[in-house]
Amino acid sequence: MTIQINLANFTNIVDPLKIAEEIFRQNPHIHIPVPIREIAKAAGIKEIFSEKDIDFEGALLANEEKTSGVITYKEHTDCPGRERFTIAHELGHYLNPKHKQNFNCEAKQLSFTNHEKEKEANLFASYILMPDKFVLKHINSTPLLDLKFILEMAEKFSVSTEAIIHTVSRLSKIPIAFIFSIDNKVRYFSKSKNFPYLNLRPKQKMPTSILYSENENFEKQNIIRKKAISWPLPYSDKTLIEETVSSKGKYGITMLYYQY
Ligand SMILES: [Zn+2]
Repeated sequence: MTIQINLANFTNIVDPLKIAEEIFRQNPHIHIPVPIREIAKAAGIKEIFSEKDIDFEGALLANEEKTSGVITYKEHTDCPGRERFTIAHELGHYLNPKHKQNFNCEAKQLSFTNHEKEKEANLFASYILMPDKFVLKHINSTPLLDLKFILEMAEKFSVSTEAIIHTVSRLSKIPIAFIFSIDNKVRYFSKSKNFPYLNLRPKQKMPTSILYSENENFEKQNIIRKKAISWPLPYSDKTLIEETVSSKGKYGITMLYYQY
């Protein structure tokens, strides 16, 4: 599969979604997992380096015209999806004409950030690695959108579990919510628009108690499923299900959905 990128077409596109769409327009054959390294190379990125001991997550070093450059990313061999997201993020800086040619991006800038350019690079990374049409095709194809299916999607798209959850939450027509926890305390949550208001604050105790598994990764064979009874949610005549998967003795993802 050859990727071709005509950089001249990008000089006036500043919207991260439109930049990703232009790549797909020029290369309609691209499928998942999206070949992000090949796309970067076709756009003029000469080298993509990984480094172990660096105090940033990703960096871009390009010429002034941004026709040629180098991307460096922090090695996360346990999570190739995270490495792919960093490469896509730096490519998002490179292809956006509003962004300068050099960036040093820290881990926090690749997750929650208020910095406009970092947010734009993250949006680009999400759109290019998890195009809406492919995500929708997946979630519309399954009779049951549960945590196992979501973990399988992360593998198919080769992205981190957190990344696919954010995209699925944004696009799901079915009410679903995901609560990320650490040591039985809420870190944050992500939910579909039609899921009821969820009164949870970061650092508060999880409404359900989790026995965290020591596994290195979130593994689908370790999902624990039960009826959800202790969540601060309005009454519904449908049964609420909670599924939890955990790792490293302290990290958990709990999915809530209604049984139809
Ligand atoms: Zn950045």
